[in-house]
Amino acid sequence: MMRKKLNDIEIVGFSLAGEETVIALPEYSVCFDVGRAPREIISIDNVCLTHGHMDHAAGIAYYLSQRTFVGVAPGRVIVHRSLAQLIQKLMDIWGDIEGHPSPGQILGVEHLEDVPIRRGLLIRPFTVNHIGSSLGYTLIEVRNRLKPEFHGLSGPEIVALKKKGVKIEDRVEIPLLTHTGDTALGRFLDLDFVQKSQALIVECTFFDAEHQSRARAGRHIHVDDFAKILEAVPDAQVMVVHTTRRTDLRAAKRILERTLKNEDRARVSFLMDRPPHRHKRIES
Ligand SMILES: [Zn+2]
Ligand SMILES: [Zn+2]
Repeated sequence: MMRKKLNDIEIVGFSLAGEETVIALPEYSVCFDVGRAPREIISIDNVCLTHGHMDHAAGIAYYLSQRTFVGVAPGRVIVHRSLAQLIQKLMDIWGDIEGHPSPGQILGVEHLEDVPIRRGLLIRPFTVNHIGSSLGYTLIEVRNRLKPEFHGLSGPEIVALKKKGVKIEDRVEIPLLTHTGDTALGRFLDLDFVQKSQALIVECTFFDAEHQSRARAGRHIHVDDFAKILEAVPDAQVMVVHTTRRTDLRAAKRILERTLKNEDRARVSFLMDRPPHRHKRIES
């Protein structure tokens, strides 16, 4: 598992296409996909499943069961509504196999159906362009700000207005981080809260010129599409995940680097490091 920061948010995760993808934000108790349910994510209360492909979703039953085993409250799985019943069925079958059910909430959601995470924090799902029922998610902080026209008022004056039922605050949304999940380019890039995200975790699966057709067929992002992503999120720190094993990671990084404008270099990073060097000294 990698540990990195993205715009000051701690990211703990692992992501290689076809193998395993699991990306946790421990300080928000939110995890995008569950991979094979590594130990590091069991204590996270909310798993947002992007879609049903095995490398993203296989660990669901294990995640829910391990929470009971280690004595934490049942977990919650947020997933596209069309998959919720199937995952519940899977949990029921595991309950039959094991002789006891693993508690946990499977919450089916659709495009733009907000899920409160805690006071002042919500998850907003949105449709992406991968297999049917795929969702991306944006983590949004919600604050109430005093309307400018009331700035000069004293505490008691504000209380008096509130009592009269005057709306004295504006609701302000701050999109902290968006995770696309698996997707090709799509209309989700036009969503206002995606464009205003301060951080973006985005897949870029393919890098070689001859992998264009694979990207199209599997509805994934190819490095040639990447400029469009960066244009859509001008203010975001961007982290690349879900790279293919078909291209050496060092080569992939070089190829992406070549496509970036100078001013974008500092805001793009990869979750995964290059594979450990064979002759690397072991540091104590
Ligand atoms: Zn995938
Ligand atoms: Zn997929």
